[in-house]
Amino acid sequence: MSTGDQREQHLRYLQRAVELADHGMRSGDGGPFGALVVRGGQVLAEGWNRVLATNDPTAHAEVTAIRAACAAIGSFQLTDAIVYSSCEPCPMCLGAMYWARPAAVYFAATRDDAAAGGFDDSMIYDEIGLDPAARSMVFRQLPVAGAAEVFSSWTDKDDRTPY
Ligand SMILES: [Zn+2]
Repeated sequence: MSTGDQREQHLRYLQRAVELADHGMRSGDGGPFGALVVRGGQVLAEGWNRVLATNDPTAHAEVTAIRAACAAIGSFQLTDAIVYSSCEPCPMCLGAMYWARPAAVYFAATRDDAAAGGFDDSMIYDEIGLDPAARSMVFRQLPVAGAAEVFSSWTDKDDRTPY
């Protein structure tokens, strides 16, 4: 497949992500965001923002699509898959991408486009870089016996599935 053909294919999947964004928004499920996960030319799952429909603030289009895709293939990793999103992923979804580990992420609209539509996540990007105590939300570390030790228990666990 030529580079030009690949670009056309990416654009077609992104167009589908935008259709899902429009669908989800019009059905009242949530904000105008859509996403799909594709692997080997097969659509594993489609998703759209369902924050309002499910009262779940984490039900962003990308998370919804990742959950459905992972359920469909029976894996917690999206190895060799591509995530297409109608908009640049927010910080939460960016993190979800690194946990799911697809081969690539393509997006259409930018975070600035989203901000213009009332979905400004620049504050979250700013907060990530701050020391927890400096964040605008109360975010305090308190030492609790055993809290750190569970990690050595994890690494000592013979039958653990590392990820
Ligand atoms: Zn998100």
